[in-house]
Amino acid sequence: MYTPLFACIDGKFLSADQRDGQDVRDPATGALLGRLPWTTAADLDAALAAAQRAFERWRDSSPVERSAILRRAADLTRERAEEIGRAITLDNGKPLADAVAEVINGAEFLDWHAEECRRIYGRVVPARDPSIRQLVTREPVGVCAAFSPWNFPFGQAIKKVAAAVGAGCAMVLKGPEESPSAVVALARIMHDAGLPPGVLNIVWGAPAEVSRHLIQSPIVRKLSFTGSVPVGKQLAAMAGAHMKRMSMELGGHAPVLVFADADVEQAADALANRKLRNAGQTCISPSRFYVQASVYDRFVSRFTQAVEAVKVGHGLDDGVQMGPLIHDRRLNAVHDLVEDAVGQGGELVTGGRRLGDAGHFYAPTIVAGLPDSARLMTEEPFGPVAAIVPFTGFDEAVARANSLPYGLAAYVFTGALKTANAAARALEAGMVNINHFGMAFPELPFGGIKDSGIGSEGGTETFDSYLVIKMITEM
Ligand code: NAD
Repeated sequence: MYTPLFACIDGKFLSADQRDGQDVRDPATGALLGRLPWTTAADLDAALAAAQRAFERWRDSSPVERSAILRRAADLTRERAEEIGRAITLDNGKPLADAVAEVINGAEFLDWHAEECRRIYGRVVPARDPSIRQLVTREPVGVCAAFSPWNFPFGQAIKKVAAAVGAGCAMVLKGPEESPSAVVALARIMHDAGLPPGVLNIVWGAPAEVSRHLIQSPIVRKLSFTGSVPVGKQLAAMAGAHMKRMSMELGGHAPVLVFADADVEQAADALANRKLRNAGQTCISPSRFYVQASVYDRFVSRFTQAVEAVKVGHGLDDGVQMGPLIHDRRLNAVHDLVEDAVGQGGELVTGGRRLGDAGHFYAPTIVAGLPDSARLMTEEPFGPVAAIVPFTGFDEAVARANSLPYGLAAYVFTGALKTANAAARALEAGMVNINHFGMAFPELPFGGIKDSGIGSEGGTETFDSYLVIKMITEM
């Protein structure tokens, strides 16, 4: 059973009755799930005004109070994980176990922020004159506008909400219209955990209109966006024009370096699993595979076996490991990249086609031996597609890995410590994983460099972009 959908302004939940809105559909079947209410320009102004009023009080709330609310929210999230996960599977398509795991991981983020928000310290700087006291304090930045994506509809939104709430900010959040149930559930959780009205407001509507309205408002002091690089750049330019702070979690095109001294079979199995997680619709998805020539055939063969063994289907069905793509735009975009790669001489090892007529299923796909100029090697596929090419030496592999403007995640498989250390230093990426996958825990900063973004979510850095520095000197 799907959940009713709401906007939330100043603590009031607004349904789609007597409002414009849009249909929400199951990407696996096309079945209508519900109707999402759109907020009007007047609603957006009401949300901004509510956030401003709430901020005036919330900024002075005690960290103990903020921590307690975040902890209660974590408990409620765990209690409701199964129900929230089921709705995510329906509107996002991912397998139920993955959806529930995403929600539980969200509870861990709430716990982390509940702990860390009690440690938002300033410092005392020794003065040149003993009669002077010099303080550095950190204060909440103000009202934040946030935009969270559909690929981890609970997990991506909770990072922004937990950081804003913990820092003492208020927020107007537009969730993903493709997969909105998780953000509605999150609003309920924060409300039931005792968050005062107006601290978190949820709005919906045409993305470009909502973002323009919010970012241009003088009430908004900070922007947080997770999504594609082109949209991120547009929003960053708008925020820059109004001198607003921002954090950006954008796309990547994660390189994987498999050296001949790696455990090739173990790497192939682990990478196949990661590649197809969320049907490849993950900003950290391994997507450009550079494999040392002497183990290239062995890797391609084992990786293909592992990819072909993955069960694709409706996320609520038993044993399904990969669901559909989110919408038909993604289906077409992914297929165009594969056709271009094959047209440029790549070998279609497996997949390369839509599965069935209903829903947006695309077969797990491998293209091997394609030229570096193929679009699949330069544009983020954001789908269940892996491009595999051989390399000869370390410097060549690193140069090819670093050749794109992206810098989010990178993966290295090697048995040699020296190679691992050299690759960790040389790769231009915000997150480097060596011989395993270890990201997206609340205690670790998550973020990219180059075109992949600005700032980090999680880790002890998590509040940095929600706070401003104030220097006080007194005599
Ligand atoms: P898209 O760029 O059309 O939309 C992606 C998301 O951005 C949507 O949820 C949409 O609501 C939002 N968006 C689009 N224009 C906006 C605007 N002007 N203002 C505010 N929000 C806006 O792409 P898509 O096909 O839906 O998704 C695929 C692309 O999105 C991929 O290339 C990937 O890089 C990116 N993406 C990245 C992440 C991530 O975790 N970094 C998550 C989801 C999508």
